[in-house]
Amino acid sequence: MNDISPELRMILSTIREFVQEEIIPLEPLLLNHEYNPLMAQLQEKRDKAHSLGLWLPQIPQEYGGMGLTLVEHGRVSEILGRSLLGHYVFNCQAPDAGNMEILIEHGTPEQKETYLMPLLRGEIRSCFSMTEPENPGSNPTWMSTKAVKEGSDYVITGHKWFSTAADGATFAIVMAITNPTAAKHERASQIIVPTAVPGFRLVRNTSVMGERGMGWASHGEIMYDGVRVPQTNLLGPEGAGFAIAQERLGPGRIHHCMRWIGICERAFDLMCAHAVRREVAPGRPLAEQQTIQNWVAESRAEINAARLMVLDAAYKIDAQGQYAARDEVSLIKFYVAGVLQRVLDRALQAHGALGMTDETPIAYWYRHERAARIYDGPDEVHKRSVARRILQRYA
Ligand SMILES: Cc1cc2nc3c(=O)[nH]c(=O)nc-3n(C[C@H](O)[C@H](O)[C@H](O)COP(=O)(O)OP(=O)(O)OC[C@H]3O[C@@H](n4cnc5c(N)ncnc54)[C@H](O)[C@@H]3O)c2cc1C
Repeated sequence: MNDISPELRMILSTIREFVQEEIIPLEPLLLNHEYNPLMAQLQEKRDKAHSLGLWLPQIPQEYGGMGLTLVEHGRVSEILGRSLLGHYVFNCQAPDAGNMEILIEHGTPEQKETYLMPLLRGEIRSCFSMTEPENPGSNPTWMSTKAVKEGSDYVITGHKWFSTAADGATFAIVMAITNPTAAKHERASQIIVPTAVPGFRLVRNTSVMGERGMGWASHGEIMYDGVRVPQTNLLGPEGAGFAIAQERLGPGRIHHCMRWIGICERAFDLMCAHAVRREVAPGRPLAEQQTIQNWVAESRAEINAARLMVLDAAYKIDAQGQYAARDEVSLIKFYVAGVLQRVLDRALQAHGALGMTDETPIAYWYRHERAARIYDGPDEVHKRSVARRILQRYA
């Protein structure tokens, strides 16, 4: 697990310094909702990351990326996760990262030219529009959004929400039913919808724990009201929407889990630094209290265990493919999400009232990363499917 090559070690050290020196100082702008100055400064940092050759760590070199393996990108993702803004600066933020991967894999030459290349260059953003308020996202084979063929077009009608980063996105990849009478896993397709077409309406950025956010840091509710796009906007084969979505999720879960570990490490550092500094009586630092010591020890153990589990899953995907690693991927999805909640909770509690403010990033993560147990498959669904597969081996 410690077989980091000298080249990767150098990359990680450069990125760590970049995150610490250039990105973390911008966090107060996000925490104070000063989005416009934030976006201007982030653009400068993106240009700098690009010029340093640290752009698109997860993307093959022939597409202008760093060409890292999943394990290597996992290591990078952990360091980027230390900041609220890290992934965005290096153009490997969700949902664009997943959309890039499926466009590389399934896009036609024309789709790549029109949508993928500007996304890779960081000129535009995108969103992924699958979940619907009226239907359970945990059962993605059940949805109401339809795409009906008319002439050479698809006409799309439906209602989506939690399309992350829809605000300001140039296109959405939309999951819609194209083959209603097919087997349930073969009914939906993925279709590229430019957000400027008539009938596309961003209703609002949904308020999440009191924050609507803006731009890439938001979750949009969208109406697709008879949106008409050419059938050439179909991504992959018709009816393959569910299979492509599954393909997108395997590496995506490694990226998320390593990002969560980066969050844990930063929260852990903040907790420890606060505990040794804050005195509960003259000359008596918080760090002397056994409860705090327990939190430090438990958090350290859980973060270390989580990292090893995620790297193990990433090695397996790199070596044997996603299907072989589906148990490991389900295990890390709920295990690391749980570690994240516990570490953030302890770090917040150790800071007292300060933990509830936005003077540190802990409260922002505490609000927004509660969702880690819900998106990319709720914990309960992963536990159920991995347990059923394990039990089958005993039947
Ligand atoms: C911050 C955030 C970002 C998101 N980004 C996107 C995005 O970019 N694009 C997109 O399309 N969607 C996105 N989503 C939506 C996400 O994918 C769904 O919320 C998720 O799939 C769960 O669907 P649901 O919310 O409809 O919950 P439901 O399916 O209604 O489930 C509700 C709860 O029921 C329980 N449950 C469900 N099934 C089972 C089961 N089989 N066994 C036991 N318990 C079960 C779970 O506890 C679950 O949390 C995002 C969500 C959040 C919170």
